[in-house]
Amino acid sequence: MYKEIELSVKPEFVQEYQEGYPLISKESIVEWSRVTKEGVIVNLLDDKKRFIVKGYYGIQNKGYGWVLTSKRAQKIDRTFFAEKIESAIEYREDFYSDKSTTAFRLFNGEGDGVGGLSIDYFDGFYLVTWYSIGIYELKEDILEALKSQVEYKGIYQKKRFDAKGQYLDDADDFVCGDRADAPIIVKESGANFAIYLDDGPMVGVFLDQREVRKTIRDKYAKGKNVLNTFSYTGAFSLFAALGGSSKTTSVDLANRSRSKTEEQFSINAVDVQKQEIIVEDVFNYFKYALRKKMLFDMVVLDPPSFARSKKHTFSVAKDYVKLLKEAIQITNKGGVIVASTNYANFSMMTFRDFIFRAFKELNGKYIVEESFSLPKDFRVSNKFREGDYLKVVFIRRVR
Ligand code: SAH
Repeated sequence: MYKEIELSVKPEFVQEYQEGYPLISKESIVEWSRVTKEGVIVNLLDDKKRFIVKGYYGIQNKGYGWVLTSKRAQKIDRTFFAEKIESAIEYREDFYSDKSTTAFRLFNGEGDGVGGLSIDYFDGFYLVTWYSIGIYELKEDILEALKSQVEYKGIYQKKRFDAKGQYLDDADDFVCGDRADAPIIVKESGANFAIYLDDGPMVGVFLDQREVRKTIRDKYAKGKNVLNTFSYTGAFSLFAALGGSSKTTSVDLANRSRSKTEEQFSINAVDVQKQEIIVEDVFNYFKYALRKKMLFDMVVLDPPSFARSKKHTFSVAKDYVKLLKEAIQITNKGGVIVASTNYANFSMMTFRDFIFRAFKELNGKYIVEESFSLPKDFRVSNKFREGDYLKVVFIRRVR
């Protein structure tokens, strides 16, 4: 049994909670000082002390907690979480039965009814990510609930507690079951990925780009000279190569990216020698490519929302137009730029406007071929559209 406490919601916020808004915002409540411990269950009341919703207190950059139910009598316990996980599994039945893809998101935070929590599936292993101390306080019930609903080889966890969602580096991310090999090999759309469940914050692949990778492989890569910037483990390069690209060039600042990218190629029988992997600041690489008058048929742009290197600080909100302009200048006429961002605080409309501005400032011309947001397994609450953070646009440079 968790401690429950009652909190009054400011009148102007009552309606949005009644309508199902799941994020408990700092501004909507005056008496935060009464809640002393994360993980406490909070019952939100209106100014007449009438019950509105029940949630938990846990501090993230997004807010101060998440709504769990609009039923006053609902107990927040193992059974509650087991039911949420059960319906999450039902919703992903087609993923479980698909032999060509063995890595997907099983539980996506508020989209599956519990904000601040995600669970990913990697070929029989489960990876639970806790986004606040508050949700971690509920950990025992959530893990028991998960174990009651799935067959698992092993369970791992990541803690991303601080307000910025930074990863907390514990000695060990292993929770229970069998330990996973390092790496395990999972499948995505028939290709192989090396996944390291216990090697820092990132496991080797971002599952939310699955459809984008498949689209690059199946529709755009054949015969093309592809530049993949901010390439991490080279997942986009791999799919381009599997789609028959003439060459891929992967650029990432991190030293680890070379061996990680080579590994992804080699476990897919792609000839590593024919691919280029460059460990360098993307912004320097753009200057170099421009100077050498290099031109690519496809340029993938998938930067982190914020990045700091020795010479540059980059923020998607401030600098994406500039980044696009550099990419446009090294893309062939008729070539394609895959522009991507996972920054939640602007919309697809704003992103499309960045694209418009970048081409306009270069007196260029383009058409949008297609665009993507989160795939089905990254389930989004229709009461919390900002949860659909992913924006990817395939842009064909006409001029
Ligand atoms: N596009 C990748 C994920 C990118 S993660 C994929 O689909 O898998 C962001 C990557 O950007 C990290 O690997 C980080 O090392 C790299 N990075 C950050 N700033 C950079 C910079 N200035 N130049 C090159 N790489 C950078």
